[in-house]
Amino acid sequence: MSNAILVMGGGFAGITAAIEAAELGHDVYIVEKSPWLGGRVAQLNKYFPKFCPPSCGLEIQFQRIRKNPRVKFFTLAEVVGLSGYKGDYTAKIRLMPRRTAHHNVDFTLLASALTGETDNEFDFGLSKRKALYKSMPFAFPDRYALDAQSLSKSDTALVAEAKFVEPAEEPREVVLNAGVVVVATGWKPYDVTRLTNLGAGAVENCISNMQLERLASPFGPTQGKIVRPSDNRAPTNIAFVQCAGSRDQNHLNYCSYICCMATFKQCLYLLEQNPNVRITVYYIDLRAPGRYVNMLEKVRAQPNVSFIKGKVADVVQAEGDRVTLVAEDAVRGEKLILTYDLAVLATGMQPSLAAGKPALPLSLDEDGFVAGGEESGIFAAGCARMPLDVTRTARSGTAAALKAVQTVKGR
Ligand code: SF4
Repeated sequence: MSNAILVMGGGFAGITAAIEAAELGHDVYIVEKSPWLGGRVAQLNKYFPKFCPPSCGLEIQFQRIRKNPRVKFFTLAEVVGLSGYKGDYTAKIRLMPRRTAHHNVDFTLLASALTGETDNEFDFGLSKRKALYKSMPFAFPDRYALDAQSLSKSDTALVAEAKFVEPAEEPREVVLNAGVVVVATGWKPYDVTRLTNLGAGAVENCISNMQLERLASPFGPTQGKIVRPSDNRAPTNIAFVQCAGSRDQNHLNYCSYICCMATFKQCLYLLEQNPNVRITVYYIDLRAPGRYVNMLEKVRAQPNVSFIKGKVADVVQAEGDRVTLVAEDAVRGEKLILTYDLAVLATGMQPSLAAGKPALPLSLDEDGFVAGGEESGIFAAGCARMPLDVTRTARSGTAAALKAVQTVKGR
């Protein structure tokens, strides 16, 4: 029997669950796929309810992890097998190589000397990164990762001579024992390129809401200046397309909960950068749960923001790198064909597990959210359960920690 807790996922829900359980006296193992903890929150410019930058909430959590020896975490890691039963699970963890030293080394000079580049997944392809990289200044752990696949020929020679880099490091496996498992595997933005009628991937100045978060971030590809990808010029006339891929039987058959609020927030980013900007929001319904309705009212009161109730049928390339939207105005009963500098698709939230069920005794619903598994001591937290904002994600992490602790204590 083990009173340790295995947490799959090192985003906000996972690290909250881990810290809460550790502070109640349990050993906790966080297993995170990417090279750093922080999950999707780290990619945001600001988050609700107080419009904090991600470093603010995450730094507090990272500090709690640093101070608590009961929390152990594995990055670039994945659970590849789980055997046993509630109270006594054995998890097999695959560790992908980070290929850099175990301590914090400043590789800025070496990284800038490398010539190979690849799309920066952290910026959703809006920038390039080197093979030796750190996605954000507040990265935790504060260590670079070496992506050997992206090294050019000359990079390979440079890296071979460098200290504290191990290009030949191989994947390995470790085995952990835990009484229960918290599944906090999070979400991914819906693949906008599947929305072929909405111009994603084909119309350069048609971006997703997460790409806009990266453009607005001071640590993003434009150091926080919201510009069009085609010419780096600030847009003056922008359209938001709500429910892009959500509430649609062919894509996500549910409301993604956060994307209306994300649009209201992004309208304020744009107005802050240029008070004369003109914004049109095309929507089917506007959803602002609870006290977030104040945010909706605030945005509605802006003279430069207009709302059109109607579904956007097409987004196509127009002259001068502009973007044309074809939509139905459901109130006036009119077909609209209007052109903008930039279109933003308010894309929805898809659970990461929709890509495939892990080797765990849990059940998923038809959309890929965790629907059951508690009887086996498997507890879901955050957006692995349902679409949530950051505040509710943290609460859900705490709730999962309490269930996990009660389960191992009760045995
Ligand atoms: Fe559509 Fe708004 Fe729901 Fe997102 S939150 S799916 S934009 S109604």
